[in-house]
This record gives sequence, structure tokens and C-alpha cells, in this order.
Amino acid sequence: MRGGEGVEVRDQGGRFRRQGRRLFSLLFPAHCDLCADELTEDDSMRLCRACAQRLAFDPREARCARCDHPLVDDACPACAVNPLRLASCRSLFPNTGVGKEFLSHYKFQRRRAYAPVIAARLAESLGDWARGYDLLVPVPIARAAHWERDFCPVTEPVRILSKSLGVPWAPALVKNRPGWVQHLRRRRERKSANEARFSVRAPLLPPGAKRILLVDDILTTGSTLNQAADLLRAARPDLEIDAMAFGRTVLRGKGPAVAPRGAGA
Ligand SMILES: [Zn+2]
Ligand SMILES: [Zn+2]
Repeated sequence: MRGGEGVEVRDQGGRFRRQGRRLFSLLFPAHCDLCADELTEDDSMRLCRACAQRLAFDPREARCARCDHPLVDDACPACAVNPLRLASCRSLFPNTGVGKEFLSHYKFQRRRAYAPVIAARLAESLGDWARGYDLLVPVPIARAAHWERDFCPVTEPVRILSKSLGVPWAPALVKNRPGWVQHLRRRRERKSANEARFSVRAPLLPPGAKRILLVDDILTTGSTLNQAADLLRAARPDLEIDAMAFGRTVLRGKGPAVAPRGAGA
């Protein structure tokens, strides 16, 4: 803009907006979604710093090198039940306490502002490894779980991560819609039938892409990730597949009779 007057007017507009926002937050202070403490800093995320920091595993806890589950007496209770057929799998935080509440707010109260928080945590957790991937692939969720036509709570953080890393992403897996016959069958029967929950869009896997990172929201038993990885490898046997989940359901006990602690997907 030419001339000082326009700049002055624009600056005043910005100042009024800032003052308005300050006054609004004084009258109606924002609170953290998770602990209800008053937010003193940037409130766009609606998360206080303390809660954001609690979205992590206890660093003193030893975790499984393959599936990231906390070890119990040096053994992994998750791998004892359902070993992952992946090179490695990591997760950001346990799906209990603050982590579980965070994911529940994100998924069911549709907190769009959490998507960049998740993307940033994924980038941080992957570190230099991230740039070694050729392709990021979100694990699809049911269409009904999409908030809007263009917003999927799993794909959105992947999209942001892809942009920040410069690593491409592709919706190479699609969720199969059960036919009406499958709908009529009980859920348990459908599960035991081990029907393919996804299909692979092979043309979306570039010929040069070898190292794939699958991204899922919650890792519980690992059967979803195993099935996704099997299907991708069936389409392209040369793929090396790792996975990353936002939340990790923590199993209690050591043996096959473990029960999930906290609800998972
Ligand atoms: Zn808080
Ligand atoms: Zn394990």
C-alpha cells in the first residue's frame, strides 16, 4: 500500500481487533478443554501447556521396540497377543487419561484445532526419520466418522505433516462399505470372518515409493494395521511399511488374557 495514511488506518484496524480480542478474553476467559484451567496464552488450541505436555508416554517406562507398547517384566503383552507385521510401529501417547480425553474431544467434539497439534507431535516424534519415507498413507475411517465431506480426523494431520516435511501423502487405502448382507450379520461374526476392511488403490502408490508410513488414530490390537499392511504388500511386495498411531491402547497384564485399559478403536 502506498502512502502512510493507508498504513496508519490498517494498523489502527489491527490494534482495535487486538484490543477487542483482549477485552473479550478478559470478559470471557477461555479454558483448557481437558483440565478446565484458565488459558493465559494462545487459546486457539484450547489446551493448556501442562495438558499438552502430558500427551506423552512416561519416559521412564521401557517400551516394545516393535509396537511401542509399555513392557511388563521385560515382555510385550501386545506382541504376545497379536504381533504386528510391520517393520516398526510407534505412537504418540497412551490412550488413557489425558490422551484418551484429548482424542475423544478431537474425534467426537470435532476439535479441528487439534489436527495441527497432532501433526506437530508426529513430526517431533518421527524426527529425522520422517524424511526417509517416500509416502504417507492414512488408515481410512468410516465415512460416517468424517466431520465434513473434506475433513477426516486421520487424514487431516497427515496432510499437514506431508506439507511440513515435503513427503507426499496419498489416500492409497479406502474403506470397504459392507454390503447389506454383511450389515445383517452380527458384528462379531463379521469380525471373525476377517473380511477385508480396505481396498488398495494401487495406482496411487508411485513406482519409486518403497518406504511407507501408515498413520492411524488409535492402535488397540494391531489387527487393522496388520490388515492394511498385508493388503499394501499384496499390491506391492517390495514395500517396507512402518506405522504411527496417535494414541496407543495400553493392555493390562502379560499374557493372552489381557484386557484393554481404556476404550480404543
Ligand atoms: Zn489443561
Ligand atoms: Zn510389542
